[in-house]
Parts: sequence; structure tokens; C-alpha cells
Amino acid sequence: MNISSVRNDFPILKQEVNEQTLVYLDNAATSQKPQIVIDAVSKYYETTNSNVHRGVHTLGSQATDMYEGAREKIREFINAAETAEIIYTRGTTAAINIVATSFGIANLSAEDEIVISPAEHHSNLIPWQQVARITGATLRYFELESDGTLSLEKAAAAINHRTKIVALAHASNVLGTINPIKEVAAMAHAEDAIIIVDGAQAVPHMSVDVQALDVDFYAFSGHKMMGPTGIGVLYGKRELLEEMEPVEFGGEMIDFVTLDDATWKELPWKFEAGTPIIAGAIGLGAAIDYLKELGMDTVAQHGEEIITYALEQLTAIEGLEIHGPIDPKKRTALISFNVSDIHPHDLSTVLDEQGIAIRAGHHCAQPLMKWLGASATARASFYVYNTKEEVDSLVKAIELTKEYFG
Ligand code: PLP
Repeated sequence: MNISSVRNDFPILKQEVNEQTLVYLDNAATSQKPQIVIDAVSKYYETTNSNVHRGVHTLGSQATDMYEGAREKIREFINAAETAEIIYTRGTTAAINIVATSFGIANLSAEDEIVISPAEHHSNLIPWQQVARITGATLRYFELESDGTLSLEKAAAAINHRTKIVALAHASNVLGTINPIKEVAAMAHAEDAIIIVDGAQAVPHMSVDVQALDVDFYAFSGHKMMGPTGIGVLYGKRELLEEMEPVEFGGEMIDFVTLDDATWKELPWKFEAGTPIIAGAIGLGAAIDYLKELGMDTVAQHGEEIITYALEQLTAIEGLEIHGPIDPKKRTALISFNVSDIHPHDLSTVLDEQGIAIRAGHHCAQPLMKWLGASATARASFYVYNTKEEVDSLVKAIELTKEYFG
């Protein structure tokens, strides 16, 4: 991969921030967008803009073809069996909420257990707290190893005949850890439970095959994988989606309506009430084209190289504590850390003055912060356009910050 030509595809990277060259290391919050995605969205508005699945006029048909064409790209990208299993949502949060509100509330009762990890993003925690509150089901947690990984032994210990739902991130947004999804899915299925996977931090970085993983539901966000904000995906197995009730009702999700009753459209449209996120879906389709052109193996390899280098460099800084496993093979391309007693917000502010964007805070994972014994952490997260020189800039800026707070 020619990294300077990749960087050239991202106009935002060419600008200065605070009179410094931008070093964007907040990709786990949202990634930057290549020109092809920006162009796809603006071209759609310039030439095609129309509502989908409604008019029979030319632009309406073209918009529908582009919107449904993007769904096919997504299907292929995660190897779902059919486009009926790909539901457009606002993002990962909305996708998980559909499963919790529809499948969760309809299928759980007081004897049942939902098993999740204490490392989950709030998006894959609060919806299950709500389901437990409403149905009386018990929320049970996997026990993590001391480095934050989930072992198969500890996974097996939490899943039993009471388990109805396992909800687990494919990759943690704080620890970077990659969970053994295929094995945990098999454990869940052996107990007749279903598994929903939060793939927000995985799909941007690695090849995901939902059929090979044998997961029941898989959620992810377009904006973390070079697509626009406001578009995401819920993958679900057809037989489960068929039995679920929609959670939003109104135009376009119905088949036949009388004054007293209504029937629903077939999948996937029964879950897509109202005018959908047309430009977002088309932009996500363009992002998938871009990622496929790079090759997900190349993306994953670059991620491993940069995280290996970053781990080496950051561990050498005195007083810097890295959270999660040090082995780069157990991680995606992000590192959370604390530096001596410098508050992560102070660190982030000083880095920002040097043009370096990192995230500081609880990362929407407050229970995990408690588990780590930290109120907040700093997080540097990388993507295909990040270079080793940018890691060096980060290291230099941290050293300077240490001197500053001396
Ligand atoms: N899950 C994980 C692991 C995340 O990192 C995020 C976003 O940071 C989300 C869920 C929520 O994604 P969104 O805000 O796009 O719905």
C-alpha cells in the first residue's frame, strides 16, 4: 500500500490545525472520508436527489437503484446470505436498540439471563439494562482476564441454560481487544441463546464474515469506516428478523393499511419506516468500494504494523500506562493509556495545540473505567492513512506534555 497516495485521497488531512500539520488519531470516534465518498454524496444531491421506493419517475428509479445497490455492496462486504438481512439504521446504537426493543422485550422473562461484557460501550449495555428492567431478566457479566481479554473458559462459565441473549463487542473501543466471537456464538447456540455482536470497531479494520462467525445479529456504523455519519447497519438472520415486530411505524414500512389495521412490508423494509438515509447509504456504498480497492487484508496488516510500532514507542515512555494487552495480535488499531498523573483532558488539550487529535474521557464505557480503576483515559486510534511518523509526533508531544506538567 502506498500510504502517501492513500493520504492524498483524504482532503481533510492536508489542512493545518492550530497552525500545525493535522495528526488525526481519533479514528475510533469517527474516521475521515476519502474524496470518493464526499463525491458520491454530493453527486447524488447534484444529479439524482429523489425519494426512494415511491415515484416511478426517472430520478426516483435511479435513486432507488443506488440506495438498493449500496445494500448489495454491504451484503457482500460482510457476506450476509441476502440483502433482506441488511437493515439500514442510523448507526450501531440504533441497530442494537432495534434488537433490544423488538427481539429482547418479546422473548425474555424473569427466568432468563442476558450475558454481556463489562467492557461494552454504553450502546451495547444500556439497551440491555432497559430490557432487563422491563422483562425482569437478569443481566449477567462475563469475567475478564487481568489484561481485559475474554477467555473461552470465562465465556463458558457465564453462559448457561438460562442465557437467552449474549451481547458482545467484536472489538473493544477502549482496550482494543478482539473477542472470540465465533466460539462464543457456538456456546450461545448450544444453549439455544442468540448472539448480537457490536461490530463498530471491527468492520472498519478486518474482514468480517457474518455467516462464518455464525452470529444472529451484527451491528456497525458507516462513519467509522470512511462513510458518512447517520448511516449504519443491522445484519440479522432472516428467520429471526421475520419473527420480530418493527420498532418504528409509518410510511414505507407497510404493505396494506385500513382505518383499523395494517400489515408490514417484507424484509428489510419493514424496519425502515419513513424516508430513509438515502445519501448516507450511497456514501457508505462508496466507502465500501474504497475499502475493497485497498483490500481488507491490507487494511488489517497496516493496522497491525502501526499498532505494533505504537505499542513499542509508547511503552518506552516513562510513567505511561497502557490499558489492555500489550500483544498487538490481540488488538485492533487503538491504544488507551494514562500518563503519570496528567489528566487525559489536559494531555489532549496540550496535544491539540500541536495539531494532534486524540480522544480523552470515559469513551462511553463508564463501567470499564471503574474496572480499570481510572476516571478517564487518553486514546490514540489509527486508520489506514496514519503513519509511523505520526506515532513519533504523538510520542514527542507526550514527552513535551510531561515536561510541561513536570
Ligand atoms: N460500539 C462501539 C464499540 C463503539 O466504539 C461505538 C462508537 O464509538 C458505538 C458502539 C456507537 O456507535 P454510534 O455512535 O455510531 O452508534
